[in-house]
Amino acid sequence: MLTTNFHPTGRHFLQIPGPSPVPDRVLRAMSLPTIDHRGPEFAALGLKVLADIQQIFRTRHPVMIYPASGTGAWEAALVNTLSPGDHVLMYETGHFASLWNKLAVRLGLKTEVLGLPGLDGWRRGVQANLIEERLKADTGHAIKAVCVVHNETSTGVTSNIAAVRKAIDAAKHPALLLVDTISGLASADYRHDDWGVDVSISGSQKGLMLPPGISFNALSPKAIEASKSARLPKAFWAWDEIIEMNKTGYWPSTPNTNLLYALSEACDMLLDPAHGGLAAVFTRHQRWAEGVRSAVKAWGLEIQCADPSVYSPILTGVMTPEGVDADAVRKIIYERFDCSLGTGLGKIKGRMFRIGHLGDCNDLTLMAALSGCEMGLKLAGVRLAGSGVLAAMDYFASHPATVPQRLAA
Ligand SMILES: *Cc1c(COP(=O)(O)O)cnc(C)c1O
Repeated sequence: MLTTNFHPTGRHFLQIPGPSPVPDRVLRAMSLPTIDHRGPEFAALGLKVLADIQQIFRTRHPVMIYPASGTGAWEAALVNTLSPGDHVLMYETGHFASLWNKLAVRLGLKTEVLGLPGLDGWRRGVQANLIEERLKADTGHAIKAVCVVHNETSTGVTSNIAAVRKAIDAAKHPALLLVDTISGLASADYRHDDWGVDVSISGSQKGLMLPPGISFNALSPKAIEASKSARLPKAFWAWDEIIEMNKTGYWPSTPNTNLLYALSEACDMLLDPAHGGLAAVFTRHQRWAEGVRSAVKAWGLEIQCADPSVYSPILTGVMTPEGVDADAVRKIIYERFDCSLGTGLGKIKGRMFRIGHLGDCNDLTLMAALSGCEMGLKLAGVRLAGSGVLAAMDYFASHPATVPQRLAA
């Protein structure tokens, strides 16, 4: 039998930036019996998760829930709003942005990739001024959409989405703003309505602390309007029938019932006022990120994100010294210490690894992951400037969490 119990003792440390570790409470909720998705009991669940997820996206408008991974929701956002041959601006912050571009090309869109040249673009956030300049030059309004990634999971950079909205407005351009917050949602501050995003795309297995398998499109009235004349082929992904059926808590096809139990439970945890609600979730991730960065700095290694104002609260990209294969380091840490770290993706493969600090995690699980990293780096022959573990211990001990990790009974 294939089980996760092939570890002789203890638990595996899943420190990749998604899928993230799932809280036991969420796993238990998933184990409840599957119910009739057309029955009366289901509608209560459907309406609850639809209302909860609006709070998470900070929107008053409809949110689509698909039984698909994030990639499906990328496709849904494009096919619902655009027509064959439409000109789309794709900002490249890293590997995920380039994968979204590849998908758009396959759909028959005419994409234009914008970004800083070379590796520099993969170390910084979206440069809103480049978008503004490009849109100002597009006097005929040929560009129909601007696509950006909020938290670039391949590098550990969280871009300023409000600045992108401002740039589009400053250029007085009607293009739609489509944002991938697949890893950003529910771990970094995100405001669909306030930031004037037209379609926000997310997935279950990152900040929402769920297993992979559901993904989202949060819509704006302007996006819904665009969907009425968009001509890219769509059937399964089409918003219109989903919006209609969601009004009563149902879906046109079979939803992922047990993952909706999990979503309901995760939203209860994330939104719980006794734990400080979403604001506390965001500060918790920032604090973990700061602790992890203090370790990387003490090791004397470079952080992939070169601009401290856009450091990701969700993951940290660690660059290995010239000549050290980051994947060989990861392999040692996996084999010796039962800890999974994220690999370098695309053009930075082998040059860096990623430490995820999201999902069901706390100071001590992070400390364990950091000691696995420190031992693995040493075993791989990397000469470290100092102990990152000591630095992170100092950081966590001297910066108590604003909301206690365990509430008094
Ligand atoms: C994980 C991720 C994706 C891909 O989602 P899948 O669920 O693997 O299809 C896309 N974009 C970002 C930013 C991600 O973190």
